[in-house]
Parts: sequence; structure tokens; C-alpha cells
Amino acid sequence: MILGIDLGTTHSAVGVVDSGFPILLADEDGKRIMPSVVWFGEDGQIEVGRKALRRRAAEPMQVVSSVKRWMGADRAVDPALENVGKTPEEVSAEILKELKRIAEWRIGSEVAKAVITVPAYFNDAQRAATKRAGELAGLEVVRIINEPTAAALAYGLDKLKDKARVAVYDLGGGTFDLTILEMEGGVFQVLATHGDTRLGGDDVDRMIFSMLTAEIPEISETLRWKFMEEAEKAKRILSVEASCTVRIPFYDGENSIEKTVTREELDALTKGWIAKTLKCCRQAMIDSGLETGDLDAVVLVGGSTRMPAVRSAVSELFKHEVDVTQHPDEAIALGATIQAGVMSGAMRKMVLLDVTPLSLGIETFGGLMNVIIPRNTTIPCKAGEMFTNAADNQEKMGLRILQGEREMARDNWELGKFEVEMEKLPKGQARVGVQFRIDADGILEVLAREISTGKDVVVKIASSAVNVDDAAVEEMVSASVEHAFDDMSERIFTEAKLKAEELLPAVEMILGQGLVEDGEKEEIDAAYQEVKIALEKGAPNPLKEAVQKLDKATEAAAARLVEKAMEEALEREMGI
Ligand code: AMP
Repeated sequence: MILGIDLGTTHSAVGVVDSGFPILLADEDGKRIMPSVVWFGEDGQIEVGRKALRRRAAEPMQVVSSVKRWMGADRAVDPALENVGKTPEEVSAEILKELKRIAEWRIGSEVAKAVITVPAYFNDAQRAATKRAGELAGLEVVRIINEPTAAALAYGLDKLKDKARVAVYDLGGGTFDLTILEMEGGVFQVLATHGDTRLGGDDVDRMIFSMLTAEIPEISETLRWKFMEEAEKAKRILSVEASCTVRIPFYDGENSIEKTVTREELDALTKGWIAKTLKCCRQAMIDSGLETGDLDAVVLVGGSTRMPAVRSAVSELFKHEVDVTQHPDEAIALGATIQAGVMSGAMRKMVLLDVTPLSLGIETFGGLMNVIIPRNTTIPCKAGEMFTNAADNQEKMGLRILQGEREMARDNWELGKFEVEMEKLPKGQARVGVQFRIDADGILEVLAREISTGKDVVVKIASSAVNVDDAAVEEMVSASVEHAFDDMSERIFTEAKLKAEELLPAVEMILGQGLVEDGEKEEIDAAYQEVKIALEKGAPNPLKEAVQKLDKATEAAAARLVEKAMEEALEREMGI
């Protein structure tokens, strides 16, 4: 089982696929959305979520919020973070631990894996920091996915049509980004992304806060949070009502506040703030090289897109009705859950953004595994290689298609096998090109082409190359680690043996033709014996070394052999 996690700046959520449906998991209070807030007590106690939020007014310096802003940063300049002496990763790990706890409590069993979302603009350091936070929380992060991609998955945009382009406008509490995605055959690609990591609904809270407190000369830190909370409440109400009256009686024991704010006032107040987001949208559109008419959908996510002024401004800019069918706070976690479900095989419908769980290849000379598509390659994909005949006048080449991580073909799984007819040619001269292609549904198709005749054989493998049972993948990977040493020795030996089998008769021929000069004979003889002994002993490294030695010792004689052959050919041709 794999969890889908939205590790958000202000809120986080966790989900899992249950009976084929992606669902978000609620905590003991029935809440599916958890504030990304952590309280660190003096004696090492930790509380996360709503409980931590409740402590913020009383102990602002012990409560860390919006830590995502500092992920992967060299230095975080957050007073509370500094005060509690934690890194952004450690704080994020506490949030993830709590989500893991909620999930395990709901599911009733332990979960060790997760898909976690990050903004599309996150760089490698920020993504790595997110992964480390997961590990600190005891979760193996099996995939980091972009938030806009997750949102698009939640909206079911992968089902729209074969090729679709969407803009995802994500305005949360502390960050904004606009991402243009192109989806083709179930795979999403980010065409452009622009954003502002210091822009979000919190700014609006501050604007309302300033309005409310314009006449109050001084406000304590504790009161500040109280007023901010009231400001936020008013903002939410104004998303549905035309006006709202904020009442805070005796806030300091003496004075009271009663102020009415109208939607119109809020719209005027936030005009510039919304305009900043529109500027990013225009920039992203320019970068993507698309026109608004090219977009199939404009998706809104993030709590702040509940504001009517935001909705209308976005719709006007893109000349497109905005899609608000999903819960703006839950869409990303839901998308992460869908991805997790696909990866664990719990969701039947293949939504691809997927990778090959194990390497795919064919068996070559000596029973070795020849990898054509390595493990963890994003699909769809294709790759190929050229193979030659192992013997003179070989009529057919047998191809065994394998999946697995082991060096020897026999230890991997056979997905299929077939034969290709070959032109009868001397050893090493007939060629067969083999191409592996995995489509967006994870179906592997193998094409083998005889180069001189141009004849193709195409084989479709019935079982999915991607949708492999988790436990089986794990077993295969751990077996490859466990046997790494023996496997590698066997590969080295097999490769050296193949080389030796080629080299020994060639050396015998050189010796027989008297192409060896006096100074060379001794060295060649010694190396020749060494190869024979190592072959008998079955010792990989000595064999490899002996083969190299013999190769080197016969270099000059081999060159003479080639020269002689060329001379003879020339003589024949010129009739001398
Ligand atoms: P997110 O980071 O996506 O969880 O978004 C959180 C932000 O959305 C916070 O700034 C909230 O105040 C804001 N938000 C939530 N609900 C509403 C609403 N009904 N109207 C306006 N803003 C909201």
C-alpha cells in the first residue's frame, strides 16, 4: 500500500486507494485537511496540526508554520524555526509522521511508502529535501510528483482526450504558481511554470488585518495572531457573502472592535495582489508558446481560488471558463493518491506517469542478461541494440525477452521468446536489430529486424511490463543486491570465457602460420597456458587478466595476420 501525500505550505493531506477508489483519510476529529503547523515544547514534546495551531497565539516562538518555504534552502530566516533549532526537513518530517500516523490508524496497518507532491518549480535540492523529510518520517518516497500534475490527475484530465493542454492555477496560503501541462497518452509534461513563493492567501489576511487594526497603536504578538485569525475568517465569509462584520469584544480587556468589510472593499484591496498572479500567468503562457485558445482546461486549486475575484480574473485572462468541480484543498492530495494507487497496482485504470519497475532485456551469448531498457525508465519509451550471429551460417537467432535485475539470464523472468531467421553469413557478419518499445499502457512490443533482408518480426508481450506485483519487484531487487558479488563474478567469467574461446583458436592459427617472431613466442605461450588454466579453474578475475595478457601478447602477430590476409586478397584481385 502506498500513501498519496500533499505536503502543502499551509495545509497537508493524506490519502490511499481503497477498493479501487482514491480517498483522503480523516483524523480523529473527522478532518481531512491538516494545518502544516508543528509545535515544539520545551521538553521535546511535539504536536502537529490543529493542536499546534491552537498553541500559536500563546507560544508563537514554539510554533513553526509555512516551513515548506525553506525546504532545500541554505539558510532559513524564520524566527520560530530558529528558536526551536530544527531544520525545515525535520519539521516537515513531523508533519509527514503525523499524516502517516493518521493513515495507519485509519487503515489499521503499517504503511512504509508514499508519493509526495512538490511544486513544479522545486529544484533538485528542494525535491531531495522533501525526500529526506519522508525518510526521516519512516516513509520510503517512491515518487515525487508535481502538484499541478496531481491536480490534473484529480480532475481526471488524463481521461479528457488523447492530447490535452491544461493550465493549473494554484493559489494557496503562501505560494502561487501557474503551470502549463501537456498530457499525451497519459503522460504529463510541464511546458512552463511560473510562480511566486511569497504570494498567497496569507497576504490577504494581512491586508484585512491592517484594515481592522488601523486605529490600534500597538499590538502584542499574541493579539496579532488573534486578529489574523479573525481576518482570515472574514475573508472566507466574503467568498460567499457580500459583507461581513468582524466583532472582537474586549480584545485587550478594555477595547472592542466592530468593523464591517464588504466584498467590494476586499476586491479593491486585493486587485494588485491578483494582478501579480496574472503577470505570472502571462509569462508562463509566453514561455509555453501557446495561445489561450490552445488550452483545453483551466484548473483552479488552492484554498484562495475560492475567492470570487480570483475566479473571474483568471477566467477573463484565459478567456476560458474555470474548472472548479473539485475541492480546491483536496485535489492535489487526491491526485497524489491516484498516482500512489496506480503505482501499487490498487487502481485498475492505468494512469501513466509511470516507470519500468524492473529492467527489460534479452539473453545474449553465454546466458547473460543484456539490458535494453533499464529499471526506472519513464514510459512510454523505446530503445534498441544490434546483435550478430554467434556461429558461421547460423540460420536462426533465438530471442528470449527477460525482465529482472540479475546478471545471468536464468535468474530473471522470461516474458516471451521467438526466433528470427538470419541470412547465412560468416560469424559476426549477420546482424539483427532489436528494439523494445513500451507504450503508455505499459505494454512491451519487441521488434527484431534482419538487417540485410529488412524482414521484421514483431512480438507483443501479453503481460504488462510495468504493472508488476510490488512484492515480486522487491524480491527481485533484493535478490540482485544479495547476489551482486556472485552475479558479477559469473558475468566477468562468462564474458572472459567467450573472449577466450574466440582468442585461443586464433592464437593457434597465428602460431601455426609462423607469424610469431622469436622474441614473442615465449610470452604468447605463457599467456596461452595461463588462459587455459584459468578456464579450467573457473576463476573469473584471473581469467579476465590472462585473456587481456594473451590479447596484448598477440597484438603484433595479429596485425601481421591481418596484413598478410590483405596482401593475399590484393594479390588475388590483381591476378598476380
Ligand atoms: P492551501 O494552501 O491550498 O491550503 O490554501 C489555503 C489558503 O486558502 C489560506 O490562505 C486560506 O485562508 C485560503 N482559503 C480557504 N478557504 C477560503 C475561502 N472560502 N475564501 C478565501 N480564501 C480561502
